[in-house]
Amino acid sequence: MTRVVVIGAGLAGLTLAQGLRKAGVDVRIYEKDAGMEARFQGYRIGLLDYGWSALRACLPEESYELAVATSGDLTGPGLLFDDQLRLLASGDEIGPPEDARVVDRHVFRHVLAGGLQDRIEYGKKLASFSETTAGVRAVFTDGTEVSGDVLVGADGGFSAVRRLLLPHVGFQTADLGGAMGRTQLTDQFRRLVHGRGTMVKGPGITLMLGRMEFRTPPGKLGLPPTDSYVRWVMLIPPDHPAGQPSDQPPPAIAVVRDLLRDWHPDIVDLIARADAHNSVIGFAQVLDQPVTGWDAERVTMLGDAAHLTLASGGNGANTALRDAETLCARLVGDGDLRAYQKEMLERGNAAVEFSKQNQKKFVPSSVSSSGSS
Ligand SMILES: Cc1cc2nc3c(=O)[nH]c(=O)nc-3n(C[C@H](O)[C@H](O)[C@H](O)COP(=O)(O)OP(=O)(O)OC[C@H]3O[C@@H](n4cnc5c(N)ncnc54)[C@H](O)[C@@H]3O)c2cc1C
Repeated sequence: MTRVVVIGAGLAGLTLAQGLRKAGVDVRIYEKDAGMEARFQGYRIGLLDYGWSALRACLPEESYELAVATSGDLTGPGLLFDDQLRLLASGDEIGPPEDARVVDRHVFRHVLAGGLQDRIEYGKKLASFSETTAGVRAVFTDGTEVSGDVLVGADGGFSAVRRLLLPHVGFQTADLGGAMGRTQLTDQFRRLVHGRGTMVKGPGITLMLGRMEFRTPPGKLGLPPTDSYVRWVMLIPPDHPAGQPSDQPPPAIAVVRDLLRDWHPDIVDLIARADAHNSVIGFAQVLDQPVTGWDAERVTMLGDAAHLTLASGGNGANTALRDAETLCARLVGDGDLRAYQKEMLERGNAAVEFSKQNQKKFVPSSVSSSGSS
């Protein structure tokens, strides 16, 4: 029987493992984090029809139902306001498509990991791998090793598997950047985001709001208790001082509070009440060249490890889930990893290109050309 070693218990690795487990394949996952709660994962992800269909193909029925039960609706048009919350526009172009459903990344990962507890090992950071005549061997930074027939790099945008396979592929800083956080959903904030999403445009800065309102509270379904929230993203131009690298970056919320202090009181309140532990600031990274293939026979990749998209595409997770579905079918079927690689890279590189084109919709123009910030 094929033994599959998956590196990374993210969205793609877990979905693949669920599909393989369902088909009776021997699959083990090795994750560098100490556990599921090890770091902030708290933003919402819009899953489109093909993301849901990949989940349906891979997950056991009860996990799929749990994902739906803890997702949120995206009904009604998106809204565009100025910084004093005067309505500028309302329409279908703002926010994700209405047939998408949003999930909270942290809760969703718990759903994906359901039933896999005995197959995941935490605290296992991949250091290297080697192909042998009998299979593939992975070595972790703690000095331990595992063997299998196939090794799958599901280890995200900063993938060690990709670095080992393709050391010439590096990173570039994208124009898309700013600060992100979340604030508990209350009636005061509910009216700010009653559609698919809200954009609030001030001079040189855009604030994007998205509602994550759980259909059923996750805590009632045995998942981590999590309040519904408004996720906010403050987008700033690439030359804005607030986004530049620093040895001692200030807390994201303090930066946002300062930059938005003259905005409408409800926005000021939204930031003042934000969850202090769930905020980040910085600019996104992309690969400096598309991945076009690799030589290893028994090693493959999926998701961000193979094609790192920008959040502006709204397609990275969806594409990663589809990769999991395709790879699962190949591993359970003819085992043709070359055919998988070709299909996955064509789709993944198109998704990256789309996300890069789409970032123009979101990046505000520079501070100098747009007056004061
Ligand atoms: C702010 C934001 C919003 C987004 N919104 C959307 C959206 O609305 N829709 C959408 O489709 N996509 C969205 N995305 C993109 C989406 O989050 C990613 O494309 C998706 O998470 C990729 O899944 P993955 O499984 O490939 O990688 P990940 O989910 O990043 O998982 C990789 C896993 O590998 C582990 N790992 C890393 N290195 C090692 C190692 N050396 N050894 C062992 N384990 C390792 C990591 O700890 C992690 O658990 C968004 C991204 C961001 C940043």
